[in-house]
Amino acid sequence: MANIVAKAMLEWATEKGATHYTHWFQPLTGITAEKHDSFISLGKDNKVILNFSGKELVKGEGDASSFPSGGLRATFEARGYTAWDPTSYAFIKDNTLCIPTAFCSYGGEALDNKTPLLRSMEVLAKETLKILKLFGNEDVTSVKTTVGPEQEYFLVDKEMFEKRPDLVYTGRTLFGAKPPKGQELDDHYYGSIKPKVQAFMKELDIELWKLGVLAKTEHNEVAPAQHELAPIFTTTNLATDHNQITMELMQKIAKRYGLVCLLHEKPFDGVNGSGKHNNWSISTNTGVNIFEPGETPYENAQFLLFLSAVIKAVDEYQDMLRISVASAGNDHRLGASEAPPSVVSIFLGDELQAILDAIEKEEKYDAKEKEQMRIGVHILPKFPKDTTDRNRTSPFAFTGNKFEFRMLGSSASIADTNTVLNTAVAQVLKEFYEKLSRAEDFTLALHDLVKDTIKAHKRILFNGNGYDESWIKEAEKRGLSNYPSTPDALPHMLDEKNVKLFSENKVFSEVELKARCEILHENYSKILNIEARTMIDMANTLIMPAVSSYVASLANAIVSAKVIGIDTTYEAKVSLKLSKLNAETYKVVEKLKEAVAHANTVTDAQKSARAFREKVFPVMNELRELVDEMETITAKDYWPIPSYGDLLYGVK
Ligand code: ADP
Ligand code: MG
Repeated sequence: MANIVAKAMLEWATEKGATHYTHWFQPLTGITAEKHDSFISLGKDNKVILNFSGKELVKGEGDASSFPSGGLRATFEARGYTAWDPTSYAFIKDNTLCIPTAFCSYGGEALDNKTPLLRSMEVLAKETLKILKLFGNEDVTSVKTTVGPEQEYFLVDKEMFEKRPDLVYTGRTLFGAKPPKGQELDDHYYGSIKPKVQAFMKELDIELWKLGVLAKTEHNEVAPAQHELAPIFTTTNLATDHNQITMELMQKIAKRYGLVCLLHEKPFDGVNGSGKHNNWSISTNTGVNIFEPGETPYENAQFLLFLSAVIKAVDEYQDMLRISVASAGNDHRLGASEAPPSVVSIFLGDELQAILDAIEKEEKYDAKEKEQMRIGVHILPKFPKDTTDRNRTSPFAFTGNKFEFRMLGSSASIADTNTVLNTAVAQVLKEFYEKLSRAEDFTLALHDLVKDTIKAHKRILFNGNGYDESWIKEAEKRGLSNYPSTPDALPHMLDEKNVKLFSENKVFSEVELKARCEILHENYSKILNIEARTMIDMANTLIMPAVSSYVASLANAIVSAKVIGIDTTYEAKVSLKLSKLNAETYKVVEKLKEAVAHANTVTDAQKSARAFREKVFPVMNELRELVDEMETITAKDYWPIPSYGDLLYGVK
């Protein structure tokens, strides 16, 4: 029945000229016919109006006063407006019709991540289309960016989770000594999935499919208790909405199995963190993937131009890409053993790199036939996926027919990163179009453009090991930016070239950028404030008292042992060591309290974030070190919170 209603609505709306609304109705099959009564009507000028329970859906108004504003508006201007995003499916969740919407302020500034993302997709589509026309692709009428975000996460036992205030309040462990067995054996990655986890994954897939989310593969990840979900790629906007739904459902469904899903970037120190691999490409309405190298010299030339555009865009806006993944959580991951470093670079694979080198130097390409690569003349060799996919350490890797950006953190929305990527590439394509459209000899101009671009931006290309310390030094020599922490990175959002990029392409106005920069700084400070206070609380009320009881029990044992004359070396040594460490812990807790109090007096958002990073964060680390050392010599019965071993190996 519902299907018939949806179909009828679809036909009706299409007839009224609402062509691009068609896919709204596909997921509506869960709505009963009665509920559709007032769903659709015809307004003035024959415009289609969508209603639900008497409310107009296309535009709405709500109170946005509790939204962080970053100085965008005063409380009396707190109205926020929502607008239905017709490019993303509406869906039914918990018997409620959910409508993907854009959200903006009274003054029209974007308050959400969707609006800038849509703006960036539009500008990239426009510039891509212009270039495609230059190559004579007359049949192409629209293009879109596509994304498939692979999502990493941890599952831990709910009872254990609840015994850890750090996990409850901050999503990560603020204390915890390393277990005797970590991930060194890599046995989890290919190991069998535990029955409870398997059941969770199955239900998650089914629930996601019901909402139209194209979950594809579920498997274990490198760290114990770590897993991954990959969807089938789709339009960036949909992929972004779907990823949000995926994260929400992961958390909800985990609870049904007595589990908690951790989406934090670094829940466990010294263990792999979680990221989100943003697989990105551009495709045409004729079904062509722009980053598929193609089979004719002609297609290859077009591919090389788009490839050069990405190289230039990533080089020129490497700081913005870094900023788009900056968060307190991701700071623990970038540059730690498993994740890409905080320096952005591109991996192309040896074959493609050799081709670009040959083009740049006008040398012969050293493949089967030693020929000079001439754009528009020669056919590129095929790049099988396994030659381009080997480097797992690169932040930005070409993987055969798409790019995989791996710096994004697991809890982040994929919107910001894609907004930056789309806008940067659009800007470069615009510059390329200026040059190519005026050229007398197109092929020659193209050849020169690709050659000059490679020459000017090859510093961003790096095919080696991104985890290697020596790369960071080399990157510095090449002049690449390296912002290890969020407060290091964020201020560059307002660098002149970045403001220019976003405002000229109408993706963010300067006001919107400033507001976002402020909000991101505030968020950073808030997170560190909560983490530090949680540590203080746990040390005061759980850890120090537990250690003190254990020391007391050892001291009692010594006294009674003396009576019968048995050896008390262990009791004496350990109680002495623990009491010293506990006293030191007490001092550091006091120091941390002061540092937090001071950082909270700083009102400027940027300075406050710096104060937390420079004055609070190091003391948090100092405290953690002491507590973790005490954990290794305190009897397990006395230790007040589940250990790393309990958490990482606790799910059966
Ligand atoms: P794997 O990494 O598991 O070998 P793939 O390389 O096929 O598998 O895909 C990894 C992710 O990249 C998936 O989410 C997939 O949907 C996505 N992906 C594949 N092709 C594209 C594309 N053209 N644009 C965007 N994402 C893509
Ligand atoms: Mg991947």
